[in-house]
Amino acid sequence: MNTSKLEILIKKEDLKNKIKELADQLNEKYKNESLTVIAILNGALFFFSDLLKLLKMPIQIDTIVVSSYDGTKSTDKIVYHKKIVKPIIENQNVIIIEDIIDTGRTMNSVFEYVQSLKPKTLDLVVLASKEDTKTKFKYDYKSLFIVPDKYIVGYGFGIDDLYRQLEDIYIINE
Ligand code: 5GP
Repeated sequence: MNTSKLEILIKKEDLKNKIKELADQLNEKYKNESLTVIAILNGALFFFSDLLKLLKMPIQIDTIVVSSYDGTKSTDKIVYHKKIVKPIIENQNVIIIEDIIDTGRTMNSVFEYVQSLKPKTLDLVVLASKEDTKTKFKYDYKSLFIVPDKYIVGYGFGIDDLYRQLEDIYIINE
């Protein structure tokens, strides 16, 4: 794996601290409730598993596999490779865990799909959002980090599926 073009952006300690902060907030907000947590894969893989380990309420998990990127370019074509397996989320508290919002196209589609299954509440948490992009995402969400409008890799973020296993997050200098 060629790491010479990578410039560190977010260190694993900072990821850990922010995720712990988020878990504390969720543990407080859903103290006496149960939760369905849906990960958008592959990008949210590590964020999802690190967060889950810190949650204290009864949780069910599910996953959606969707793609819209071709290499480092966002495209209009949103492809669902897998939808949720247990679509019985009516009247449940649901949180969607996503890696990043760039243009917002992917999440508009995913959010509306999950919303159509009539959950009691629906929150979206993303690990990062791009600072300079005018996101077209239409709903409220929480973002743990604001990142520059550059392509990032590591901690689940890949480029053509490479670099996902890195523990920190990097900018790729092309
Ligand atoms: P959007 O539909 O918001 O333009 O794109 C969202 C999806 O594109 C994310 O779920 C993610 O898979 C991918 N994506 C957007 N920006 C980046 C980036 O900087 N790095 C990586 N690895 N993926 C990105």
